[in-house]
Amino acid sequence: MPHDEVSPLQRTRARQLRRSMTRAEALLWRHLKAHRLARLGFRRQAPMGNYIADFVAHSCKVVVEVDGESHDFADRLCHDERRDQWFASRGYRVLRFTNEDVLKNLEGVVLTILQAAEQGAPPSLTLPRKGGGNGESMPRNEAGSGKVEAKTEVLAMLSPIRLISEAAELAARRHNGMARKGRGNEPYINHLAEVANLLAAATDGADPELVAAGWLHDTIEDTDTTREELAQTFSERVASLVVECTDDMSLPKAERRRRQVVDAPKKSADARLIKIADKISNIGARIHPDPSAEERDDLIDYTAWAEQVVAGCRGGNQWLDTRFDDTVRTARASL
Ligand code: ZN
Repeated sequence: MPHDEVSPLQRTRARQLRRSMTRAEALLWRHLKAHRLARLGFRRQAPMGNYIADFVAHSCKVVVEVDGESHDFADRLCHDERRDQWFASRGYRVLRFTNEDVLKNLEGVVLTILQAAEQGAPPSLTLPRKGGGNGESMPRNEAGSGKVEAKTEVLAMLSPIRLISEAAELAARRHNGMARKGRGNEPYINHLAEVANLLAAATDGADPELVAAGWLHDTIEDTDTTREELAQTFSERVASLVVECTDDMSLPKAERRRRQVVDAPKKSADARLIKIADKISNIGARIHPDPSAEERDDLIDYTAWAEQVVAGCRGGNQWLDTRFDDTVRTARASL
């Protein structure tokens, strides 16, 4: 917002409003301030033109308004519409909630804000309206539906796209300069991308944390990344999935391999999916045209061991199981 669009009077009013938030506003602010929601930088009682937005995140162009009950409903509606149009003309999307929405279904409200933030600001938009009933009040209906159950998760969690993007970026930086085994000096990140993508395809994109864990699955084993760091940056679940996929590197290779076979059935269902994806990727990287004797031995040896590990991981995802079998078939055919 350019500075000169805001009058000194507006600034004074904004300052006064900041001192007297309603209970609902104060409650919502607790979840928006300090980049708590998906690291978005929300401001409160922000002067914009002739108006003061209750909350605004300029990065995703979302304005959040919390309305109390109005005695003059029609008048208020008309005023809100003008106001929303002004914000829309500047590319901002306005989400309107009542005090009641915030007090009774805070998670729903926060999730709706998160979804709108992810979408950014579409050029033409349907403004949520008080009173609704014509389908245009969708964000409020969603908020009021009480469908959202994962209360704390939603509040603490990065948005799915941010989660996966952050995981990919961290993995790329931590594995920087590392190469995969095998021909062509392929960068290590290719392996992580492949594992993450297999998991995304296997679950049809329904589990962002699993995909993030796919990107990160070798960070503790191969880099100086810690469980605590992953838990803090991503989530407890992402961290524990990566831990489940981490070998004890102080053990000799033969013992690590033996443990993978023995431990596979004891792993969580999601860790088993990561294991299968990992083995698909690692066998695939060992398949070469015209293999040397050494490459053949390595492929035979690795595939036989991977089959034992995957035997203890099967049954959680048909697509991934089949994909593994296909890869083994291709490997054998290449010998
Ligand atoms: Zn791996």
